[in-house]
Amino acid sequence: MNLEDPIDQIKGVGEALSKKFHRLGLYTVNDLISFYPRSYQDYSKITPIKQLQTGQYSVRGKISQVSSRYARRGLHITEAIVSDTTGSARIIWFNQPYRAKSLATNKTYLISGQFELRHQKFSMINPACELESDLPTNAARILPVYRQTKGLKSNQIRKIIRQVLPTIQKTEETLPNWIVKQEKLVSRAKALYLIHYPKRSDEIEKAKQRLGFEEVFELSLAALNLKQDNSQLSAQKIQFKEQLAKDFVGHLPFELTNDQRKVIWTIYQDLTASKPMNRLLEGDVGSGKTVVATMAALMVLNQGYQVALMAPTEILAKQHADTIYNLLKPLGLHSKVGLLTGKMKASSKKHSHRHISSGDMQFIIGTHALIQEKVAIKKLGLIIIDEQHRFGVSQRKQLLSKADKMPHVLTMTATPIPRSLSLTLFGEMDVSIIQQKPKHQQTIHTEISSPNSRASLYTKIKHQLSLGRQAFIVCPLVSDSDLQPDLQSATTLQQKLQSTDFKDYRVGLMHGKLSPEDKTTVMKQFLEKKIDVLVSTTVVEVGVDVPNANIMVIENADRFGLAQLHQLRGRVGRGQHQSYCYLVPTDSSTPSSRLRAVESTNDGFELSELDLKIRGPGAIYGSAQHGALDLSVADLADLKLVNQARACAQQFIDKQENLLQYSHLSKRLEQLLKVTTLN
Ligand code: ADP
Ligand code: MG
Repeated sequence: MNLEDPIDQIKGVGEALSKKFHRLGLYTVNDLISFYPRSYQDYSKITPIKQLQTGQYSVRGKISQVSSRYARRGLHITEAIVSDTTGSARIIWFNQPYRAKSLATNKTYLISGQFELRHQKFSMINPACELESDLPTNAARILPVYRQTKGLKSNQIRKIIRQVLPTIQKTEETLPNWIVKQEKLVSRAKALYLIHYPKRSDEIEKAKQRLGFEEVFELSLAALNLKQDNSQLSAQKIQFKEQLAKDFVGHLPFELTNDQRKVIWTIYQDLTASKPMNRLLEGDVGSGKTVVATMAALMVLNQGYQVALMAPTEILAKQHADTIYNLLKPLGLHSKVGLLTGKMKASSKKHSHRHISSGDMQFIIGTHALIQEKVAIKKLGLIIIDEQHRFGVSQRKQLLSKADKMPHVLTMTATPIPRSLSLTLFGEMDVSIIQQKPKHQQTIHTEISSPNSRASLYTKIKHQLSLGRQAFIVCPLVSDSDLQPDLQSATTLQQKLQSTDFKDYRVGLMHGKLSPEDKTTVMKQFLEKKIDVLVSTTVVEVGVDVPNANIMVIENADRFGLAQLHQLRGRVGRGQHQSYCYLVPTDSSTPSSRLRAVESTNDGFELSELDLKIRGPGAIYGSAQHGALDLSVADLADLKLVNQARACAQQFIDKQENLLQYSHLSKRLEQLLKVTTLN
C-alpha cells in the first residue's frame, strides 16, 4: 500500500464506505493520514473487574454465558459475562444482534466502555469489545476521536486507520534534517503514527509539537520570503521635511502622545528608504491612528505623489475624509482630498475619476470602490488600509496593481493582534504599536446587566441624556427573524423605544441595509445631536467618532466575539465624559466568562489574546486570511512554539538553503503565498 493510493484500496473499504470518506474530503491514504483526531479518550488503563465503579473503564477477560434475544419488537439484547481473576461483570449490548455470533468463549478480550448500575446489577452498556492484541483498535487504548459523518463513526475510522499504520511509516521527512535534530522533534512518520496511535498521552504531545512546529515554520518561512522579496523592490523615496511636520503638529488641537510620535518617526524613516514600506500599525480604538496616517500622507503629498486610503465602510470613508480634510486645512492642503465610494452618484464619481487621473485629487479616500472602479492612480506613492482584517488578500493585490511603481503601504488595525499571531500571519510586515491612549480618555465603565433590568438601564440612559449626552443601543439583527427569535432587532427596538420608554426623545435607527444617503443623514443627525438615542446594528463598530455619546447598551452581548465587543465599546469614551457600556446577555442565567472578561478589562490586547485562545484565529480574523489560518494542530497562542519555529525559518534563510531540495515545503510555500498578505 502506498500513500497516494485511493482509499478504496484499503482492506475493508468498499465503494459505499469510500463514498463516506469522500464526504469528509478524504480520497487517498495520505488524506486519511492527515485527518487528525479532534480529541482523545484515555481507555488505556486496564482495571481489575473487582475494582469497577460507575464510570468509564477498560477490562481484560474471558467471556461466558452469551445470550441473545428480542426483548420486544425493535429491541434486541445481547448479554454476556466477562471474568478476570478478580471477578465478573455483566455486559449488555442493545440492538447489536451480530455480537453473539462473534464472541468466542475460550479467548481473551479487551473491553472498554461505560460501567454503571442497572437493575441493581453492575453492567457495561454497549462497550467496545475486541480480541486481545498488541495493537487494539477500539478498546483498551488511548482512543482518538475523529470528526464523523453520517454513517461513518469514529470507531470505523479507527479501524481503517489501524489498517494503514504500516503505510504511515513510509511517510517521508518534510523538514530539513538539521531542524529535526536541532529542535529535538520526532520524525514526520513518527509524529503521524503517534497522532493516530498514541500509547501514552505524552506521545500525543510529541506528535502535536512536531506537526504544529511544521505548520508555523511554513507560515513563518512564507512570511520571511515575502519580506525578503519586498526588500528587493524599489519604491519612491519620500523626503522628510521637518518644517512641514512641525507646521502640521503646530496646528493640531492636541499634543501627540509619545507613542504617536514614535510611530510617525518610524514611518518617516521607512518612507525615505528606497524599499517600499510595509508596516502594520496596531492601536486600540481611540488611540489616534488617523492623525498618524495623515502625517504619513503629508510628506507623500508634498512630493507630488498620490495617497489612497481604503476604509471598510462608506460611513468610515466619509468620516475619514471629513477628519483628514480638517486636519489638512490649516496647511492649505485640504483641496487635495477627495472621496470615491461605490455608492456615490454617477456624476460625482465621474468627477472623482477625472481628478484622480489628472492627479489634482491627490489624497483619495474610499471604500472597496477604490479597487473596483476602473481608475488608474498613476502617481500612487502610499496606500493606507484602515482595519486591515476586513480586506481580503486579492483586494489588496488589486490595489497595488493600480500603480506604476510599488507604493509604500501602511496598514492599520484596531484589533490588537496578539504578538504570536502577528509574527506568524503578518510576519512579512514591520509592526508598530500605539499602546498609550490620548490622556483625555478614561476607562469605560463596563457592566453586565440582567435582561430583566432594562427599566433601570433606561433610567441610566435618560440620566445621561438629561446631562446633554447621547446613547447607542446595539442589536445583532436588522429586523426580526423567525429563525433567531432570541435576538433583538434594531428596527423593532427603535420603534418600541420611540413609542414607549423614550417617547420624549429622538430615537434614531442605523443599520447596514439603509441606503448610503440615509446612513449619512442619520450619522450627521447623531453627530449634530438631533438624535438622542441611536439604535443600531454593528455598522457602528469601527471608527465611528461621536465624542458626545457616552453610554452604550449591547443587546445579546453573548453573541458577539470579544474583540468585536471591545470595538463596539470603543464607540463611547471618545470625548471628555465618563462613559458607560452595559452588556445584556441573551438570557439571565449566569453570564459567560467571556462577558466577564470584557467587564473586567479595557485592554484590547488582553481580550484578543483571550479570544484567540477561546475561538481560534479564524474566528477573529474572518475568512480574509482563511487559507493561512487553516492550521490543524498548531496553537498560535503558544508563543514559545511560534518563536521557535520562526527562529528556525530565519536560520533556514540565513543558511541559504535551496528550497528545491524540499519539494513538500516548496509546494506548501506556494500555496501559502497565494493566501497570505501582500505580494
Ligand atoms: P483610532 O485609532 O481608533 O482610529 P482616531 O484616530 O479616530 O482613533 O482618534 C480618536 C480621537 O482621539 C479623535 O477624536 C482624535 O482627534 C483624538 N486624538 C488623536 N490623537 C490625540 C492626542 N494625542 N490627544 C488627544 N486626542 C487625540
Ligand atoms: Mg480609526
